[in-house]
Order: sequence, then C-alpha cells, then structure tokens
Amino acid sequence: MSEVNVAENLKVVRQNIIDACKRAGRKPEEVTLIAVSKTKPVELIMEAYNEGIRDFGENKVQELTRKMEEMPKDINWHLIGHLQKNKVKYVAGNVTLIHSVDSYELAEEISRQCVKKDKTQDILVEINIGDEESKFGVDYDDAEELVYKIIGLPNIFVKGLMCIAPIAVNYEENRKYFKKMIKKVVDINKVMGDNVNRESSRGEFHDLTGGFPLSVLSFGMTGDYIAAVEEGSTMVRVGTGIFGERDYNK
Ligand SMILES: *Cc1c(COP(=O)(O)O)cnc(C)c1O
Repeated sequence: MSEVNVAENLKVVRQNIIDACKRAGRKPEEVTLIAVSKTKPVELIMEAYNEGIRDFGENKVQELTRKMEEMPKDINWHLIGHLQKNKVKYVAGNVTLIHSVDSYELAEEISRQCVKKDKTQDILVEINIGDEESKFGVDYDDAEELVYKIIGLPNIFVKGLMCIAPIAVNYEENRKYFKKMIKKVVDINKVMGDNVNRESSRGEFHDLTGGFPLSVLSFGMTGDYIAAVEEGSTMVRVGTGIFGERDYNK
C-alpha cells in the first residue's frame, strides 16, 4: 500500500465529475477522466489502472514511452506536455492523442512522421488561454487559422482544443477561460462545417458532441476540473487529485 490512497481519491474525483455533470445537464459519459501520472512510478499508476482508469497523461516523451512499454497494452496514452520537433518521431502515430500542438511546424512534423510510418495521429490545438508568458500554446486570436492550416495536412486529424488555465486559488476564477474556449470551438465549427469529420486513428468515428466537427475540449486540472466540467470540458486532466503531490527532485 502506498501512502496515497489512489482508489479513494478516484472515487472522490469521479463523484465530483458526476455531480458537476448533473448540475450542468450533461451526461457523465461525455467526460473522459485522464489520470496524469507524470513523475509517478508504474506501481502507483497501476492502482488507478486497477480501478478501471484506461486514459493516462504524461508530459515528457521519454517517460511516456517507457511507461507505455512497461504497462498493459489497452491503455490510451495522452501526451499533454510541450512537444519538441526532434522528439515527434518517438510518439507520432503511437499515442491516442497529442494535446499540445501549438504551431504549424510541429503539426507538419507530426504529419511527416505519420506518412512515413503509414499511421495517423489525432491531435488537439493548445491555446494559451491566460495569455501567459510562461505557457506554451497558440494565441487565442490565432487558433482558427492554425486549425484550418493543420486540416490541410495528411495523416494528422484535429479533434479539438486544449488549454492549461492559469493557476487558480479558487476554481471559479478559471470559469471565464473555459467559457472562452467553448466560444472558440463554436466559432471554428461554424466556419468549418463538416470538413474534419473523418475517421480517427483507432478506426472509429468520434462522437461529434453537439454535431460539431471539433468535439474534444481538454481543460480542467485538479484545481479547476469541477468548473471545467460544468462549462463543457470533455477531457479533464487530473494528477495531484489522484496520485498526490509531485516531487520533482526525485
Ligand atoms: C501536470 C499537468 C496536469 C495535472 O495537473 P494537476 O494539477 O496535478 O491535476 C494537467 N495538464 C497538464 C498539461 C499537466 O502538465
């Protein structure tokens, strides 16, 4: 037994998601809980796996690929951290979703590697929603253009938008950013019509929630996932709330 009670934490997070959905008139199935396992050992992560979690998020390529090898094969792996172009070859076509595409050059490299391997890759476009110097992501006003350009590339499919909201003291503070994310996805879908309604890498058609082509919204972390779900997030990325505080010195 670890000091962190992963099973108990998961019970709380899952119930919070169900309650937030109820308040917002949404179905809990619309929300995927991604357990963010960065810096955590495989044995601890397996406690979440044993509680039924099949979506895990990592922010470093090397750590992600190592854990992919060591853990069961029915896991959906999400790359949620900044991706450097020279590391694209290690993940392109091999992970369920890359959440952090914020430039055309990066998308081009993902596309190029996928064509080479005869694979495809689903991605999200990351927006720097709080307009913070320290954060990656495309500027809010440039997001449409980036999405439209990436759509033209082969073997890479834009599924939606992602953001890392500013660190919130009170989760209510980030509600305004989540509302802006929803507005952006609605705006893009209005223009885009049905153009990106294509088959995903896993051979299934994504549920196009609300009838829009971009159907994935990845926002909400330990400090603000309740507000995120209330506002319409379809993927919340929770780390600390499941696995406890991270120690980066280890
Ligand atoms: C670390 C991380 C998370 C999880 O953060 P917590 O506050 O621990 O829930 C979510 N998204 C990204 C991109 C991260 O890097």
